[in-house]
Amino acid sequence: MQEVQLENKTIEDYREIVGNEVIDDLIKNAAPLKNKKIIEINSTSAGGGVAEILKAKIPLLRNLGVDASWLVIPPDDDFFKVTKNIHNCLQGNCGQALKKTDTDYYIRYLNQISEKLPTDADLYVLHDPQTLGLINHLKGKKVIWRCHIDLTEADQKALEWIQSFYPRFNKIVFSLDEYVKGFEHKKTTIIHPAIDPLSTKNKFLRTYEAKKIITDLDVNTDKPYMLQVSRFDKFKDPIGVLKIFSMVRKFIPNLQCVLMGNYATDDPDGKIYYDLVMEKAQELKRHNIHIINKSDDLAVNALQTLADVVIQNSNKEGFGLTVTEALWKGRFVFSHPVGGIALQVLHDQTGFYLGYSDDANADKIVDVLKNKEYYSHIEQNAKEHVRKNFLITTMLGKFVNLYGEVLKL
Ligand code: UDP
Repeated sequence: MQEVQLENKTIEDYREIVGNEVIDDLIKNAAPLKNKKIIEINSTSAGGGVAEILKAKIPLLRNLGVDASWLVIPPDDDFFKVTKNIHNCLQGNCGQALKKTDTDYYIRYLNQISEKLPTDADLYVLHDPQTLGLINHLKGKKVIWRCHIDLTEADQKALEWIQSFYPRFNKIVFSLDEYVKGFEHKKTTIIHPAIDPLSTKNKFLRTYEAKKIITDLDVNTDKPYMLQVSRFDKFKDPIGVLKIFSMVRKFIPNLQCVLMGNYATDDPDGKIYYDLVMEKAQELKRHNIHIINKSDDLAVNALQTLADVVIQNSNKEGFGLTVTEALWKGRFVFSHPVGGIALQVLHDQTGFYLGYSDDANADKIVDVLKNKEYYSHIEQNAKEHVRKNFLITTMLGKFVNLYGEVLKL
């Protein structure tokens, strides 16, 4: 098990963004957690929303005096194949039904790696199904499970399997109310994920800085572009984005489409899906289409900062941090109201819903692109909505209270 090395962060730096009250409360509420050892464990240190959150959460907990650390389980292809299938089944898209041989492999692998699990923490926080089974090795410890997945259409067998672990946890945290399914309500808590406004990905960039970065990515800053930043994954449907783009560009011929994506190291299907996206782009002659497959937070920031319109075409989403990031930068975001996106993109207030007619979607995007002034209040609303609800300081406040409650402080 590998500890992730992190840069320091200072809570005081957030005062001017979120105000004194939020920071003062946070400092006060975190005081009882001073020097408590808290270990959070997930399956990847890069790629995807969980890693993104931990990158900010752990250093800020440390700055608040908590002895917090982040461990990542060692990678194993077969284990990740099993957990990817579990993940898909839980999201309601079971490639193959969950088999006993798979769950047996899962348990065996976690047994094997648990030898490296430190046993001296006051509290453990296990993230997502990949680390869920580590609960077997934490007898007598305080343990929280943080589930980041949308369980609303979960396959029954997969759901029952994860639920079999629930009784041993002290608390289970979901991103949204509707993800809580069929067990004691008092054991569950809802905490929305959040973004770090001071991270490389979200810090303020001046237009000229952003332009320089975007030009280096070979995207033409003199032409408008629509953007989706997401893992190459069928639930994010980047191929659908290319379809919408091919319709919009009939009306805005110089429009570019930028798909920035990566695939997490725990996602064995990523490369396969990426190839399908490339195929579709080829079909469209790649004209004005930029597919960027690299891990680069500053590039994500620059692209989101100047995008004329941001699409998030997910048909399933845990929360959708990529949407939070775009809203925080005051972009026009178009997305389906799925999972956490429904809390973020409020139709005609902070962004726009995509419907299931490509024609209608394209018409609305053209309308917004041609009438940006008319819609400028949406950009302002989008930013304020994130400031109030989805910044890391709000999320941290809720975790600090939860940790205190579990540790009975
Ligand atoms: N992301 C990134 N580079 C990429 C694609 C995605 O940095 O090429 C980031 C994105 O900015 C966001 C996170 O990965 O911070 C994705 O989180 P989200 O909740 O949107 O989706 P998840 O991948 O967790 O399903």
